[in-house]
Order: sequence, then C-alpha cells, then structure tokens
Amino acid sequence: SPPRPAPYLDKLNDAQRRAVEHGSGTSAPTPLLVIAGAGSGKTNTLAHRVAHLIVNGADPRRMMLLTFSRRAATEMTRRVERIARNVLGEGAAVMTDALTWSGTFHGIGARLLRDYGPELGLEPSFTIHDREDSADLMNLVRHDVGFSKTEERFPKKGTCLAIYSRCVNAEQPIETVLGASFPWCAAWAAELKELFAAYVEAKQAQNVLDYDDLLLCWAQAVSDPDIAADIGGRFDHLFVDEYQDTNRLQSSILVALKPDGRGLTVVGDDAQSIYSFRAAEIRNILDFPQIFSPPADIITLDRNYRSTQPILTAANGVIELARERFTKNLWTERESAAKPRLVNVRDEADQARFVAERVLENREGGSTLKQQAVLFRASHHSGPLEVELTRRNIPFKKFGGLKFLDAAHVKDVLALLRFVENPRDRVAGFRLLQLLPGVGPTSAQRVLDHIGAATDVIGALSDAPPPPRAGDDWDDFTRAVGVLRQGSLGWPAEMERARLWYEPHLERIHEDFSTRRADLVQLEQIASGYPSRERFLTELTLDPPDATSDEAGPPHLDEDYLILSTIHSAKGQEWKSVFVLNVVDGCIPIDLAVGETDGIEEERRLLYVAMTRAKDDLQLIIPQRFFTHGQAARGDRHVYASRTRFIPSNLLPHFEQAAWPITNPAGGHVRASSNTVRLDVAARMRSMWR
Ligand code: ATP
Ligand code: MG
Repeated sequence: SPPRPAPYLDKLNDAQRRAVEHGSGTSAPTPLLVIAGAGSGKTNTLAHRVAHLIVNGADPRRMMLLTFSRRAATEMTRRVERIARNVLGEGAAVMTDALTWSGTFHGIGARLLRDYGPELGLEPSFTIHDREDSADLMNLVRHDVGFSKTEERFPKKGTCLAIYSRCVNAEQPIETVLGASFPWCAAWAAELKELFAAYVEAKQAQNVLDYDDLLLCWAQAVSDPDIAADIGGRFDHLFVDEYQDTNRLQSSILVALKPDGRGLTVVGDDAQSIYSFRAAEIRNILDFPQIFSPPADIITLDRNYRSTQPILTAANGVIELARERFTKNLWTERESAAKPRLVNVRDEADQARFVAERVLENREGGSTLKQQAVLFRASHHSGPLEVELTRRNIPFKKFGGLKFLDAAHVKDVLALLRFVENPRDRVAGFRLLQLLPGVGPTSAQRVLDHIGAATDVIGALSDAPPPPRAGDDWDDFTRAVGVLRQGSLGWPAEMERARLWYEPHLERIHEDFSTRRADLVQLEQIASGYPSRERFLTELTLDPPDATSDEAGPPHLDEDYLILSTIHSAKGQEWKSVFVLNVVDGCIPIDLAVGETDGIEEERRLLYVAMTRAKDDLQLIIPQRFFTHGQAARGDRHVYASRTRFIPSNLLPHFEQAAWPITNPAGGHVRASSNTVRLDVAARMRSMWR
C-alpha cells in the first residue's frame, strides 16, 4: 500500500527527515547512526522515526526502545504518541501502549532474564541487589573468606565492588583494571580474585543478581547463537538513545541480537560522553559504523533548536577546546541579546540565596518553577540551596541525588518482600532478622543457614530454633512471611500487610516514626501502580523514584516545583532557565579528575552538557569560597576557589559578568538569614534519609 501522508515530516529539516525515513518501505533497514551535538533534535528525530514506522504498519510490540532512564523512556513514548496522533487519531494511544519493550538496558535485561533464566541456570524468582546491597554482600563474603580479619589494609567493600564492577563492564582482567584505575590496590590482585570468585558463588547460591549481572547474564545468554536468534527474532527494530554512554557489554549485546545491524538505530553525541566511570566507551559510537557489513549509514545534524545563539556560542567555545571530538559546531536561528552570565558570589550561602531570589523573580516574570533547573556536579553541592529553598517554601524535586529507596525504613519493608520473593537472598534476610529485638548477626546467620536452600521455606522457618530473645516478634515474623509466601492476599494488598508487620519495629527503632510512616504509605501508593510484587521490586530497584522536598513523596503531576539535578542526571533534558552551581576549579573539574587527561576531558564535556540544557537563560555561578567535604587527609574545610579552567579568559567575551549581592557603598549588605533556622531545617532533611 502507498505510504500514508505524514504531515509531521514537514516540521523536520532535511537531515532529520532522512533519518526518520531511512530504509522506508524495506522490512529490515540497514543500520543507522545519528551523531550530532546537543539540542539538534536527536531524541526528537528518534521519536519521529518510531512513530513513522508505526504509522506505516510496523508492529510496536516488535520494537525495543533503549534509553538512559525509565523517565526518558516514558517521555519518548509520550512524544511518539503525540506524533502518531497526527495520522492515527485516537488509535495512536493503543499503538504506543504496545511499545512495552522500552526502558533501560538493565530493566529490559531483567525482563528477558526471567524468560530465559532457566536456560542459564537462573531461577526466575531471582531478586536484584542495588549497589548498597551488593556492597553488603561483598562484605559478608569478605568475612567468609577471611580477608577482613587478617588484613587491615585490604580494600574496603565499596572499593572491592567498584573494581569488580569495572572488570565486568569493561570486560577487562583484574590486573588491567587495578593498574589503570586502582593502582593502590595492585598488591591484592590474587586475594581480590579469590574474593570475587566467592562473591559470584554467593550470588548464585542465593539466586540474586546485581546491576552488572543483568548486563553480563544478558550478554552471556545471547552469546548462545540460538538464544540470540530467538531474542533478536522477537524484535524488528532496536533503538538506542544516548549511545555515547553505552559500554562494551551493551554494544556486544546489540551486535549479538542483530549481527548484520539491520533494524538498529542508534543516536548520540560523542561530545556529551560523561559516563566513563561506569566503563562507558566513547569508541562505541565512533566505531559503530564499521562493525557491520554493509556499514551503517551516518547522518549528522548541525542545527540546534534548543538554545539562543549567545548560549550556543559560549557552549561551543567550551567544547572547541576539547582534545578530540567528532561532532561539529552547531548553529541556531534563535537570536537573542542576552549572553550567558558568570555570576560571582562570596560563598555557597550567597549562591543559594542568589538562586532562590532569581528563581522567584523568574516566576514573577511568568516562568513556572518547572521551567527552571539548578544543576551541579555532585549531589551534595545542592545542600545549602535545599536548605534555602525549604526555608522559603519553594518546592523542589531532586534528580540523581539520594533516593527515596535509600531510606532505612523503606529498605526494611522492601527486605521483607524480597525475602518472601526469594528466601535465599541473604542480604535481605540479614537485614530483616536483625530488625527483631535481640537478634544479632550470629542468630540471624543461624536462622538463614537453617533455611538454606529449602523449598518449603515456611516449614523450614517454623522448625527453625527461634532466636533466644526474639519472643513474640519471632512469631509475628514467621506469620507475616507465611501469609505473604502463600500469596492469597494478592498484590498490592501484600504491601500493606508488610507495612503492618513492620510498624511496631518502626516505632521502636526510629524517633521520627510518623514522618517515616508517611513514606511507607507513599510506598504503598507507588506499589499499586505495578502489576505484581516481582515487577514492583525489579523496577523500583533499577530506577528508584527521586527525592523531593515534600516528605510525603513525589509531588503530584499538576504541582509546580523547581528541578534540582546532578549534571549527569540532566542528560537529554532542557529548561528555559538553567543555573549551574560551583563553576569553579575543584568542582568542575572535580578535584579527583585533576591530573588525569581523560578525566579532565570528561569534566569539560560535563560542563558542555550542563550549558547546553538551557534554552533562553543560563547563569553559571562562581562562589569565591566553597566548602569541601571529608577528604580523609584534609578534612572538611573552606577553600578559596577560582573560575573553572574550562572558561579561560579568551572565552570571557562570550559571557556577561556580574557580582551578587551588589554591595551598597554605605555599609555593605545585611545578612537576612538566621543560622538556627538553617540548622533545624538541615537536620530535618538529613533525618528524612537516615
Ligand atoms: P541532547 O543532545 O541534549 O539529547 P537532542 O539532540 O536529543 O539533544 P532534542 O531534545 O531532540 O535534541 O531536541 C531539542 C529541542 O529542539 C526540543 O525542544 C525539540 O522539540 C526541538 N526540535 C528538534 N527538531 C526540531 C525541528 N525540526 N523544528 C523545531 N524544533 C525542533
Ligand atoms: Mg536527546
């Protein structure tokens, strides 16, 4: 049949349109790479391509859409629906609802592994460990193999996990990883190998997977040509956004699924590669065209639709100084007289007050809070601002910071659900049993050993010797596990049952239990959005909800709130006004990166990512002094700071320079804040996450 008229194509420029129509009319289009700078419409083009394929009869159930976060996947499907609605009308919603294979590599991996697990020796009821759980398990194993006792200077659990993770993701032997990134641990190579072997064994015995396993097992599964063909055959089209931040395992998975590259579309920007600390491989995107035969088609885009010319000129100036890059400078037709501003303030307290005041001014001027964002290099940089915003009752939502799920009480309740799902998950079991009064590691261990690999968990629990001092709490515990395992309550009623079991412990353990109880009620609401316990646990672990200023949980959709985000988590997004905090040496580039060429280059790209989030208004803030946290040798202290090295003086003409507060010649400015208030608010905010 002739292609349907596609009015949405008229809104695209020629290069975008070529990308959207690439391979039109063929059932298996050759591989396509769209590589282009920030704001040039890569994500938008990808959404149009998906919509265009659907409009022309492609089956959305046979598409896999891989994005950097679940939020990005949801946003993408929403766009696809809007575009397809042009042609399909109401039917568009049905089609986009069928785009169920959209999400992160990890999330989709987890789903596939439930299907293909048995072939890999995985039981489908596996539970997933987040980073903290993984570190806890690493610690348990470390005790078992005896390194922690004999050797005081053995790397800490977090370091062990980082090394392990690096080996897995970069597919490199331990010696290479130690030499390149952890030279101070090089003497421990043999012990670490032994530890990692034991860690892998423990995970298998307990039927748990960590984040890395989701990719690793997926890659292993598809290294079997039959499984690869089977999974690959379920999908006609695979799309990947932000391809510059994929690692080698991820690219090997794609190649295994589509060895000839047909049906693959990847988009990205090498100038925005910012995840090498997770073994993202910038070469992935640069080498993509050559992997396949025939080679992939490459389309570049050079017009930016997001930012005004002065913002773009300044951002181009920063990235032009990069050592190497593929994408070219961008241009835009969005004229403006307003240059981005470099704002000098005295310290972080002033920085916080400046941002708060500007944000309110912008709101008076007609911008909503949601159209504004504050970006920073490290999560703790926003501390003083969070206090200031709370003091002034300005609602905010924080991306990429401490997560709702990191709160101890939330983890406790989830541990019960995880234990019910998979009683061999020892990290969950330990956490849970030690909630009971009088139960320490030894008696917890005794119970868990008794359960072992028993299939009849309820039976094993009921004839386990009760921990000596647990009393009635032990009976309450076994009863709760019994009811939940039995499964008659159904989901999400199970969630409420778990909370009711936990409440007496909550009140005993935490003084501020009423706030925390509100979190748990919120968790129940979140739970009701998932079809089953298993999906809830999986997706929550992989992509936890973000922290908010609102103690009862994430704000409602119609509420207005300011966005606070690490630069890493701001990837792909845009706002009318953007503030970047601490644009000083020591923050961007962060201290740790100094002295390492690759590290410095990545920090430069981070600043580029931050600047290119702004549409109309960009303010980079430079406190003359800032506070550095807990570097062991030096301790917390104030340091004097200078403007980031990425904006050398020859770039200054691209900026307007300002100082704040504008000091009043008669007697300086008056500090409005009261320290007591600040401390109280800060303490309350910290307690939220404890
Ligand atoms: P990033 O590199 O930051 O991820 P991107 O290349 O993915 O950016 P998009 O987010 O897709 O860029 O697009 C940036 C902005 O430009 C969006 O607001 C989008 O709607 C707009 N845009 C893209 N293409 C066009 C076009 N042809 N006409 C008008 N607006 C466009
Ligand atoms: Mg994008």
